[in-house]
Amino acid sequence: MSARTVLAVSDLTAAYGNATALHGVSLEVREGETVALIGANGAGKSTTLRTISGLLAARSGRIAWEGKDITNWPADRVVAAGLSHCPEERHVWPEMTVEENLRLGGYLCGSRREVDRRAALAFGRFPRLQERAGQLAGTLSGGEQQMLAIARALMSEPRLLMLDEPSLGLSPKMAEDVFAVVRDINRHGVTVLLVEQNVHNALSVASRAYVLETGRVTAERNAGDLRDDPDLLRTYLGG
Ligand code: ATP
Repeated sequence: MSARTVLAVSDLTAAYGNATALHGVSLEVREGETVALIGANGAGKSTTLRTISGLLAARSGRIAWEGKDITNWPADRVVAAGLSHCPEERHVWPEMTVEENLRLGGYLCGSRREVDRRAALAFGRFPRLQERAGQLAGTLSGGEQQMLAIARALMSEPRLLMLDEPSLGLSPKMAEDVFAVVRDINRHGVTVLLVEQNVHNALSVASRAYVLETGRVTAERNAGDLRDDPDLLRTYLGG
């Protein structure tokens, strides 16, 4: 495992109005890792990703990316710096075609030819999307929409991909396919920060995991240790 820390989140707090959702979250992601954030509903996993990606303001704390302080940068600047966020519920544009959705993911790169190149790469990696390039995204299956959301997030050629609940609402088989894609993306050198309700899936793809409880990190463990020790997992997640 590479030792270089690429993302360092320190003592991060964030709130929705008066309701504080993150109470001093600290975590690190090293180059080439897949790191999972796990925890119960409402623990603050999505909020952590949203704050890193500039969709929600940090109230205090620091987010450093490759040594630069990116705290409260606007979302497009965060994307341009090499981080891409694939949000929960996918948010594909249903009335646009698969190809139009995909190309929008490359909007910051500024060159049509470069968008063409990246779209061709994406279609090579996701042949099911290629077959459906002209189809309205709203008519895709849930799994296909998730693949499209991931492919679109890759169009900015991120060095860190943040994925929020990629298996939400998918059949076990589709979820498996999505996680195979996540592994493949990581093998191709993209660092991954993954939020996932399905702890078994999360721990099968991640090398390390942080446990969040009510807006705080309560543990950081090797994914293998948690996976192989249900009792340990239960102490962190309850139930
Ligand atoms: P889940 O798996 O259910 O998405 P999570 O761990 O991702 O859970 P968050 O979605 O980050 O949790 O929510 C953390 C807290 O912030 C919760 O108490 C939630 O109710 C609150 N929250 C999230 N989004 C909003 C919002 N848009 N407005 C107000 N409160 C919100």
